[in-house]
Amino acid sequence: MPYYNHHIQSKLPNVGTTIFTTMSQLAAAHDAINLSQGFPDFDIDPKLISLVNNRITQGPHQYAPMQGAQRLREVISEKVYKLYNRHYHEDDEITITAGATQALYTAIAAFIKENDEVILFTPAYDCYQPAIEICGGKPVFFQLKAPDYGVNWEEVKKLINQKTRMIVINTPHNPTGSILSKNDLLELEKIVSNTDIIVLSDEVYEHLIYEDEEHQSVASYPVLADSAIAVFSFGKTFHVTGWKMGYVLAPENLMQEFRKVHQFNVFSCNHPLQLALADYMSDEDNYLGLSAFYDEKRTMFLEMVAASRFKASPSKGTYFQLLNYSEISSLSDVEMAKKLVIDHKLASIPISVFYHANLDEHFLRFCFAKKEETLKRAGDILIKL
Ligand code: PMP
Ligand code: GLN
Repeated sequence: MPYYNHHIQSKLPNVGTTIFTTMSQLAAAHDAINLSQGFPDFDIDPKLISLVNNRITQGPHQYAPMQGAQRLREVISEKVYKLYNRHYHEDDEITITAGATQALYTAIAAFIKENDEVILFTPAYDCYQPAIEICGGKPVFFQLKAPDYGVNWEEVKKLINQKTRMIVINTPHNPTGSILSKNDLLELEKIVSNTDIIVLSDEVYEHLIYEDEEHQSVASYPVLADSAIAVFSFGKTFHVTGWKMGYVLAPENLMQEFRKVHQFNVFSCNHPLQLALADYMSDEDNYLGLSAFYDEKRTMFLEMVAASRFKASPSKGTYFQLLNYSEISSLSDVEMAKKLVIDHKLASIPISVFYHANLDEHFLRFCFAKKEETLKRAGDILIKL
């Protein structure tokens, strides 16, 4: 027993351990193939390791500037201009963060106050809702529907009122693998123009997009970009989820508020890594081939699934594929995910946990950011079920 038992009024009474930790732990405990939490199981580019070695050897080893290393912000500015045709100024409109999670949290903390409403599209990545709630905000859910998970913007409009402060979008979308089109962004642009609504745009999978689609960034839409904070992650782009490095783009007036929180949240991020990332990202060949690289894995995974009783609508982006198991079992998705790990040694993520009302349509999410050999072993299991 503790010496004093605190009476804690939890700020997040309904939050437990994330599904990613839960499933990865279960996978390890049962020696299962882990296609649950999204991370690659292959080696990273030796060029990047060598650049990190150089920077670690030479330094600097002291604090980076609060907004991030100048060189990295310059490289990002050039990259974004080339890809999305908007110039974000490296001094006032780009900030380096400790991964996308911190960026998203900081953005929400900077703008959301008690009783502000934030529109979330569900199924939604798991870090948005707790961040909104901890700030006293209220998530307002818009449910996307299988199999295409498209957005009906006329319906979205009905959710907007005086209290709507923010709309969170995520394209390519985790967990469904859907993407937003040009038309979607134009519709969103109409909704937010001449309002005080801020768009928080989670674009961490910008380079993982298939079937000749192009990533639609808020940065490419002038009115939208003026209202948006866009969030990116080096973890996804360079296969280094463990480095926890990312960045944010926003117009100066929004970035000023973002930095007010950022400077007391982390102050600044890993300095030598920022410089190594700048060296590496200055060569566009280090990220432009990513879709083709992952498309091979996606195709291989889908071919194996086609020989099974699972049903799939091909993922259009991200490194996730949803599979429907309705023909195999009537178990809930959480139970099915557990059974797959314990009885069949394959870990996935149940989709119901990404819905506020835990809608269960018998979908599991599988991460295909894996070596061919890992995917083959997973495929052998799926085919037998
Ligand atoms: N947003 C989405 C949609 C993600 O899938 C992830 C992580 N997989 C993040 C944000 C967090 O990125 P980071 O690891 O850079 O914090
Ligand atoms: N974003 C990763 C995923 O979807 C997991 C990150 C985490 O564990 N928080 O699966």
